[in-house]
Amino acid sequence: MAERIKITFLGTGSAIPTARRSHTAIYLQYKAENILIDCGEGTQRQFRKAKLNPCKVTKILITHWHGDHVLGLSGFLQTLALNGMTKKVELYGPEGTKEKVREFFDTFMRPGWKMNLEVFEVGEEKFLENDEFYFESKLAKHSVEAVSYSFVVKEKSRLDRDKLAKLKIGNSPLMGKLAQGKIVTIDGKKIDGKKLVYTEPKRKVTVVLDTLVCPGAVSNAKDADLLICESSYSIEEAETALDHMHLTSKDACTIAKKAKVKDLVLTHISQRYDVIPKKILSEAEEVLKGSGIGVRVAEDFDEIVL
Ligand SMILES: [Zn+2]
Ligand SMILES: [Zn+2]
Repeated sequence: MAERIKITFLGTGSAIPTARRSHTAIYLQYKAENILIDCGEGTQRQFRKAKLNPCKVTKILITHWHGDHVLGLSGFLQTLALNGMTKKVELYGPEGTKEKVREFFDTFMRPGWKMNLEVFEVGEEKFLENDEFYFESKLAKHSVEAVSYSFVVKEKSRLDRDKLAKLKIGNSPLMGKLAQGKIVTIDGKKIDGKKLVYTEPKRKVTVVLDTLVCPGAVSNAKDADLLICESSYSIEEAETALDHMHLTSKDACTIAKKAKVKDLVLTHISQRYDVIPKKILSEAEEVLKGSGIGVRVAEDFDEIVL
């Protein structure tokens, strides 16, 4: 069984929060990693409401330094400091992030508070790569420095537990070799690993927030299983979207289609569609008709597991 990637939408609103939608925050959990993508105002309380513990966060990824994506960050970090968290938290963001974090710290940190925070700036690169997964950032096209992020769990060769049980093969230190498809001898039986392994395909989640349609967004989302994409505006507000360097529902679908993603989730929904998110959804469904791409509009506290 593949280890699950769980995504919780902690905030699905746009520049102004509403009773229905908090500011942007997306929580991605995979094994020991708990990754917070953006931290809009109110994110801490959203954690509590979702019965999640903010002190478990291992990494924070910031798409850009606009208030609706970062105003919750100082409070969030303060909570970690007040809880005496000594575990290292890594924070990633676009160019300028180090300076911004320093400004935040100058404003709210008090003498004696300790925080083990390491800050990195990313542009177009793979980072945090290990045998199992990696992250990738690409430049977005917004009114300030901005990036999109992908989280990729690599293709993996796995042992078929049912086949092992049928052959009555118990646990052995040689399981690792079997999983590599090698021939090993266990309890006097010669066993060909190749016949017992299957390939678990790679899984990819991409988060494209504030941007115009741009090559970075499309290439980052390429072949994603799940694209979480901003859709601040309806097609009818295309001009306003362009002025504010945001996407319409149609633009988000354009990225999804060009990148050939499997599923699209729309978020960062403007308050003007608060009572009618179906407008955004029906527009997107129309654009995606026949493409095979599934689409939905995220609501606060929605969870997706893949
Ligand atoms: Zn923005
Ligand atoms: Zn925004």
